[in-house]
Amino acid sequence: MSKIPRQKDPRPLFLTELERPELEAALGELGHPRFRAQQIFHWMYRRGVPDLDAMTDLPRELRTALAAVATLTTPALVHRERSIDGTEKFLLRLADGRQIESVFIPDTPAMTFCLSTQVGCAMACAFCLTGKMGLARHLTAGEIVGQVRVLVHALDMRDAPFNIVLMGMGEPLHNYDETMKALRILGDPHGFALSPRRVTLSTVGLLPALERLAQEPMMPNLAISLHAPTDAQRGDLVPINRTYGVKEIIDACKRFPLRKRGRITFEYVLLAGVNDAPQDARRLAKLLAGVRSKVNLIPLNAAAGIPFERPSDEAIDRFAKILADHHLIVSVRKSRGRDIRAACGQLIVEGQRKSPAQQLAVMM
Ligand code: SAH
Repeated sequence: MSKIPRQKDPRPLFLTELERPELEAALGELGHPRFRAQQIFHWMYRRGVPDLDAMTDLPRELRTALAAVATLTTPALVHRERSIDGTEKFLLRLADGRQIESVFIPDTPAMTFCLSTQVGCAMACAFCLTGKMGLARHLTAGEIVGQVRVLVHALDMRDAPFNIVLMGMGEPLHNYDETMKALRILGDPHGFALSPRRVTLSTVGLLPALERLAQEPMMPNLAISLHAPTDAQRGDLVPINRTYGVKEIIDACKRFPLRKRGRITFEYVLLAGVNDAPQDARRLAKLLAGVRSKVNLIPLNAAAGIPFERPSDEAIDRFAKILADHHLIVSVRKSRGRDIRAACGQLIVEGQRKSPAQQLAVMM
């Protein structure tokens, strides 16, 4: 398991890494009232102020005391690129120089931020470019939330509601603690006050973490990257399936506590000649019988280095129709931002690949 590098800074208090109760405790230790944490949260998240000096309603002594012990780090916006469909991709640089991508999808009525949870990814799904990078490291909670801080500011969306999908680089359940902490910080009523209903966590289905998630008070919507109805097929596409198989994942989904009218989304990347046959659709329908599900078909976003092809529109329609005929709720994901390589599975930051030896070290 990779360690999250904390910057070597003589000031040990990383403000953006703290949940509000933690900040309250730290303020208490400094001899300041705990309610100041509310003000600081408001400045950092609602006003989007990136430094302590600008927090003008904090008493000067508190600002001086904090300046001595605390840092407020914000990912640097390196580059942004806009698709013809309005989707925007943001390249961000973290404090240690590593880079990640986040995507803004301006669907109406909901604006959506697609966030990364890791630099790279260890899951190595056969059709995903991020998977080709390997895992460089996990993101901290502050780095996950930092993407929202940067995007809200860059897009001038301070008062606009938004949704979050954890579908950028990385496997969120592989970085469980920091991801859940990020959701708690995002949900804080004195910060972004984001309801977990506005968050969708997408996962390959790491079973122990999925079972932990089922107990969480801040429960996001769940999306499972299924991609195939049998272990034989899925094992070739999503290597972790050799550890946590299709049946176990579906059983865990059946036990997963859902909100009233809640459903689990099953993502299914359609690959020509691999998992798009009518028989695959029928098997999928049988597998999902009895699960409160909706199926999101994702026609492959093809790319150089990805050894698969997108099925024809007819094959996609035929697949969707078979599922619908079996009374499943089906949608076909519109591919957004393909011209700027911001679509699903296309996020990759060059020059961050690890050598196989480094990769192994990271995973242990
Ligand atoms: N690790 C998480 C979230 C990141 S990927 C997960 O696997 O769910 C978000 C979605 O994009 C996943 O369903 C993933 O399988 C899909 N995806 C990856 N590469 C793709 C590609 N080339 N074309 C279409 N979808 C892709």
